[in-house]
Amino acid sequence: MLVVELIARKQRGEALASGEISELVQGFTRGGVPDYQMAAMLMAIYFRGLTEDEGRQFLKAMIESGRRLTLDSVWGVKVDKHSTGGVGDKTSLIVAPVVAAAGVPVPMISGRGLGHTGGTLDKLESIPGFRVGLDDEEFERVLSQTGCAFGAQTAELVPADRKLYALRDVTSTVSIPPLIAASILSKKIAEGTNALVMDVKVGEGGFLRSEAEAQELAQTLVRWSASEGVRTIVFGTDMESPLGRAAGNAPEVIECFDILRSGSGDPRLLDLCRALGAGMLLLGGKAATMSGAAELFDRTLNSGAGYAKMKEIAEAQGSQAGVVDNYTDFWQPRHRHEIRAEQDGFIAEVHAREVGVALVDLGAGRRTAEDPVDHDAGVVFDKQVGETVRRGDRLATVYWSNGTTSASGLQRLARAFVISAAPPPPRPLMRFFCDEHGVRPPENAHS
Ligand code: URA
Repeated sequence: MLVVELIARKQRGEALASGEISELVQGFTRGGVPDYQMAAMLMAIYFRGLTEDEGRQFLKAMIESGRRLTLDSVWGVKVDKHSTGGVGDKTSLIVAPVVAAAGVPVPMISGRGLGHTGGTLDKLESIPGFRVGLDDEEFERVLSQTGCAFGAQTAELVPADRKLYALRDVTSTVSIPPLIAASILSKKIAEGTNALVMDVKVGEGGFLRSEAEAQELAQTLVRWSASEGVRTIVFGTDMESPLGRAAGNAPEVIECFDILRSGSGDPRLLDLCRALGAGMLLLGGKAATMSGAAELFDRTLNSGAGYAKMKEIAEAQGSQAGVVDNYTDFWQPRHRHEIRAEQDGFIAEVHAREVGVALVDLGAGRRTAEDPVDHDAGVVFDKQVGETVRRGDRLATVYWSNGTTSASGLQRLARAFVISAAPPPPRPLMRFFCDEHGVRPPENAHS
């Protein structure tokens, strides 16, 4: 195989054969195809796209690049949840323990921050002692023992995606719907889940800005996972502004623990957790209808069982007893900065992408794959889209510990807020729903 020839063919918009894609993915994973050639190929794919067959072949080759878990020792229908990534997108930390507490096993292989989006693993690692680097046996043991395990991709689990994901991150080639589908599904299929609930983010804070692209991805996810025996349902949700009251690492964890402890919190965040959790409970066979599943989710959250489950999981993954209860004592950021309103009016926008890029600048994410992450870093919002403000009101507080102030990060955060004289039109959280029957309005998300 002459890789330069394959790149040239893709540049001309020609389709590659299955065998060529397998060889390319295998060669790249083993080091025979250098990063610079794969980067060129990714850019050609970015502009020329992939056919259905090419995309499916990428998925197949990626799954075959490593081990496949079966999770045989774990009883029940295993259901995972995954998001395409956003800012303040912390639902996994709430939904997974609640769903596990309601009796559905949740094997969760999560990712690190990618581009301007936050990563579940970085957030979990801001909990003292919490180990996400479980090997396959530990992952299965924690899952059997507690009903939920949060893991990272190991060297054996889809190594092709591990390398490709890192390369896409630094070459601005993440936003390729079939490669997003192959990346997500390869990990989910290899981890051994039986069903999957996806949150496909639409808007500037995610990787897909248009609803049409998000729907195309949703349909691809449903179709391809079904061929591998994994039933998937997808919620398309808004990602124009950050989700919830916090974005970053420790501040998001605090928000999640507060919600798990009290059962209350930011209404949009809670609504999304309820929808995703209900989808998981439905697929896991714990309810016959979406509304019944939503009631079960609420009951489990409000009973405190999800909070107790989170403590159990944290201890099973290395944290000392009491860490979750006393988490705020462990959070001692060295710096804080307040952002204040410069005029009266309504919050018209909090630009999620600006917030995400600013957080990377402040150390909550990585500029390069080797960068250390500041687990203390994040922002807590006092005001959100639609709320009224007076000049001088505090809009948000930013926290960080590592290094010196990043003036550009703070300026960017301040710029993320847009204040208008008139209230902004309401923006629905739920944009669409998709399952094997196709895409439809979110209010028809019942099976
Ligand atoms: N999440 C993933 O796991 N992969 C992508 O490509 C994008 C989001």
